[in-house]
Amino acid sequence: MQRDPRYDILFEPVRIGPVAAKNRFYQVPHCNGMGHAMPLAHAAMREVKAEGGWAVVSTEECEIHPSGDVSPYVEARLWDDHDIPALALMCEKVHAHGALAAVELTHNGPTASNMYSREVAIAPSHQPLKYGYPHQARAMTLQDIRDYRRWHRAAALRAKRAGFDIIYVYAAHDLSLAMHFLQARRNQRTDDYGGSLENRVRLLRELIEDTKEAVGDKCAVALRFATEEFQGADGVQEEEAREIVHLLADLPDLWDVNIAAWYMDSQTSRFAREGFQEPFTHWVKQVTCKPVVGVGRFTSPDAMVSQIRRGVLDLIGAARPSIADPFLPKKIEQGRADDIRECIGCNICVSGDMTVTPIRCTQNPTMGEEWRKGWHPDRIAAKRSDKRILVVGGGPAGLEAARALGQRGYEVHLAEAGRELGGRVNREARLPGLVEWGRVRDWRVSQINKMANVAVYRDNQLTAEDVLGFDAQGVVIATGCYWRRDGYGRSNGAPIRGLEGPNVFTPDDLMRAPMSVDSLLPRGPVLLFDDDSFYLGSVLAELVRATGREVIFVTPEDAVASWTVNTQEFRHIQRRLRELEVNIVTAHNLLSFDGEAATLGCVYSDRERRVSCASILTITARLPQDELYQALQQRQEQWRDAGIESITAIGDCFAPALIAHAVYAGQRYAQEFDTEPEGEVRFRRHLPHDRN
Ligand code: ADP
Ligand code: SF4
Repeated sequence: MQRDPRYDILFEPVRIGPVAAKNRFYQVPHCNGMGHAMPLAHAAMREVKAEGGWAVVSTEECEIHPSGDVSPYVEARLWDDHDIPALALMCEKVHAHGALAAVELTHNGPTASNMYSREVAIAPSHQPLKYGYPHQARAMTLQDIRDYRRWHRAAALRAKRAGFDIIYVYAAHDLSLAMHFLQARRNQRTDDYGGSLENRVRLLRELIEDTKEAVGDKCAVALRFATEEFQGADGVQEEEAREIVHLLADLPDLWDVNIAAWYMDSQTSRFAREGFQEPFTHWVKQVTCKPVVGVGRFTSPDAMVSQIRRGVLDLIGAARPSIADPFLPKKIEQGRADDIRECIGCNICVSGDMTVTPIRCTQNPTMGEEWRKGWHPDRIAAKRSDKRILVVGGGPAGLEAARALGQRGYEVHLAEAGRELGGRVNREARLPGLVEWGRVRDWRVSQINKMANVAVYRDNQLTAEDVLGFDAQGVVIATGCYWRRDGYGRSNGAPIRGLEGPNVFTPDDLMRAPMSVDSLLPRGPVLLFDDDSFYLGSVLAELVRATGREVIFVTPEDAVASWTVNTQEFRHIQRRLRELEVNIVTAHNLLSFDGEAATLGCVYSDRERRVSCASILTITARLPQDELYQALQQRQEQWRDAGIESITAIGDCFAPALIAHAVYAGQRYAQEFDTEPEGEVRFRRHLPHDRN
């Protein structure tokens, strides 16, 4: 297919100092949980992005010295020459596809932990470490500043030897010394590096000059800079940011701009829409002649073109959109823009992508599996037989299994009980703020619709009899799960007294008809008992609050939605619930409900209290909807006559989990169908002897 000429502008080359990006698609630095611990897996993941058409492929943060050790998080590392080969491998893989490789050098100062290196942390002034470690960073002397510049320069030279084309000076996210020196709250120095703005910018200027002098002949020097920190005068804010950009205007070869801290930069779709950073970064291009790259969870080529044409950005930066679809540029280039697997803004990629676990993505189940399983985001092995496969259930697990099996070329039949495909995604995407989650369904349905070998049967609730009579060799049961009503969960090992009576609701009751929640619930306060602690409790609180009812949010944890610290949503949720005047009760368990009041128990003491409420909404645990699977298991002796070779439960019907797990399960079934498992460990591992 031909590329739409409207998008030609996205494929213009852009000069960045001594190098040139072949187009305007720029994968900005992002963490991935592999880093220096899994260099082969890391290089393979970056290679796939280069293959997918990104003109620039960056590392994550890259530590330059043991005194800026960010363990337990796993990022890149260039402490000394031993670290070069791992990153040289990435450069080689990225270059093989005509892309530029970029490295984000950093020293995290008081935002490091030094738990591995046990070095004393350093900062512009004496201060506690940011991430709650109960020790402090010491104020840097002038000699420390000279040392720091020397480490940065040495790391830049190593990066050049590794083969990088673009070398970053990092002053963003409140995560690096170069930014900490800019911040009034972190820099109380009275020497040439503190006080006036010019003094606070001095170190950043010196770092850029040092880097240019060291590697600028061959490598471009990029500055990653946060233009707003939302901390008032304590932090970088627009007025001062403008002055900083004026002061440094044409010194770096590239400005990579965003907002801080990370939870503001990587906002989920529940809290920020595509292009949300434009109001904070649009002015940078007016101040510098150098190219500007910025982010905003861009997945629409029209939005990208608009950014370029309106003079907001020169290069379209992407972390999450490049994770959800590493082939995004290539698809636009080949006239397949409709095939882009759009990021849904759920931040599952963020959860754990800094710890030693390969990055995962809801939309792209192959992310993190490129090396260890050989999975690819755009290709899959062709079928090995002419077996027919029946997939029962059209939620994310069933849809992905049907789609990926269809891509392999198998004859697939997908039966869904409801009128719509999508399963839980349909229900959840109708909840406040989650509309983009529908993209999980939309992409898969659109792909399936193009496949002549995948037949879809809506309004088809299959029985065991139906399955046995279908003449399929492979049967996939992906029939989902449901929320328990009895209160059993993490905090209660037995049913909660009183929940068997009326006016007790589960998320399924509300999600079935979110528009008519008002008529479903009795008047009066709703006590929401959230024993799940992820996103759903706060989303349902919003839904109920919109009916005008008082919501009493009870959690056994010390904070509402405690697990959302992992998706960078925690602060946004706290704020939202307070704005909505939700009544929050932390560290309490639900003990009983008598129709008029609930009894709550403090999780730390024996104290109990009664709270008046008209109804209870429990979010505790789920059970597989696996009656069909169990019925088929009981009729196993009939499989052979029915031509069935295997019946496999996947997704929530196997074990209730996240949408990401369901999609992964669907992909895995398709990948492994018609293959013989080898050994107990079903993926390649980094073993000590194959490091470097
Ligand atoms: P998952 O997240 O594992 O994909 P979902 O709950 O999202 O699970 O989707 C399960 C889907 O299975 C729902 O759309 C549901 O209507 C469908 N389903 C459940 N039982 C049957 C059945 N017996 N026949 C066909 N479809 C079914
Ligand atoms: Fe986007 Fe979610 Fe995938 Fe992250 S996990 S890239 S937010 S779809």
